[in-house]
Amino acid sequence: MRESFLPYGRQAISEEDIDAVCDVLKSDWLTTGPKVEEFEKAFASFVGAKEAVAISNGTAALHAAMFALDITKGDEVIVPTMTFAATANAVVFQGGTPVFVDSDPETLLIDPTKIEKAITNKTKAIICVDYTGHACDYSALKTIASAHNLPLVADACHALGGTADGKSIGSIADLSTFSFHPVKPIATGEGGMITTNDAALAKKMRQFRNHCIDSDHRERQEQGSWFYEMTDLGYNYRLTDIQCALGITQLKNVPKWTARRQEIAKIYDEAFAQMDAVTPLAVRDNVSHTYHLYVVKVRKDRAEVFKALREENIGVNVHYIPVHLHPFYQNNFSTKTGQCPIAEKAYEHILSLPMFPAMTDDDVKDVCDALQKVTTALNI
Ligand SMILES: *Cc1c(COP(=O)(O)O)cnc(C)c1O
Repeated sequence: MRESFLPYGRQAISEEDIDAVCDVLKSDWLTTGPKVEEFEKAFASFVGAKEAVAISNGTAALHAAMFALDITKGDEVIVPTMTFAATANAVVFQGGTPVFVDSDPETLLIDPTKIEKAITNKTKAIICVDYTGHACDYSALKTIASAHNLPLVADACHALGGTADGKSIGSIADLSTFSFHPVKPIATGEGGMITTNDAALAKKMRQFRNHCIDSDHRERQEQGSWFYEMTDLGYNYRLTDIQCALGITQLKNVPKWTARRQEIAKIYDEAFAQMDAVTPLAVRDNVSHTYHLYVVKVRKDRAEVFKALREENIGVNVHYIPVHLHPFYQNNFSTKTGQCPIAEKAYEHILSLPMFPAMTDDDVKDVCDALQKVTTALNI
């Protein structure tokens, strides 16, 4: 068995990253200085969007998106149930109601054929999630969204660097949100971004991250002015210059890191083609999958396989418990077991295997060997 614990995901930090952060520490601005705009410009250009708004984390990015779209009490927003809870929580922060939609059985992405039935006269937006780094079926989603005149928000926290039909993730939906938590495609400690082509929405979100105040500290210093107005209720969701400097250097690695994740996925795919105990999730044509997660379905006894792999020092995980099953949603929104049967059944079988660019081929082999050993021993 492996000597050291292999996590399911982790950041990679270079000397260039460290130097960039140290330079900011020696500068005049630790927060809301020149690095914010520099990071926003680099990010917008990388994903091919007109605007990028830096924000304190991926959850705040979703909250800002809901605010920008004027989601309020009584509004419904379509969300997939197979996602991290923050996707739905952002709707609740604004007083809205998330309406959970079930998954495609093969990819576990939101099933577009089930969205139409979930739309009512209260529906104000659709949020889709590029779960695992596999782009959603954007052409179907955009058709539905435009037929009902609804904005489409992509929670793209898994999919920075990915594409769908040759278009870059971050440039397809009306608003796309990203996270820079250490397990995500790039890391700034905590961090997030929203991309859009709509300058008015971008302006609204830049104010939202700063208490909905109409100018920031640095602008007022430059203008020699003290006056400002708070025009709505906002938050302190600012991303610091320290974090933005790290984001700028991290971003340069995305093509290289995505390629390495895809290489690891290929080794896994080939190994699991020979094993009946596990089946990787399906991958559709016309997407470049970023493999934030590599998820397999275990034929049976997932809990036992999870435990045995952890004992082998393989840091497997489960993404996700369908959000509608959480007590908060059952208690406050009357969600119930049985309402999203595909995701609920898949949840009993899914397992996320270690996947991050710095994994060596030996690490990958350790995972495959441990999975073979454990499933054989457990007779799966
Ligand atoms: C990580 C993640 C978030 C939240 O991002 P934070 O930066 O941790 O707040 C939201 N949605 C999805 C799908 C995520 O993976």
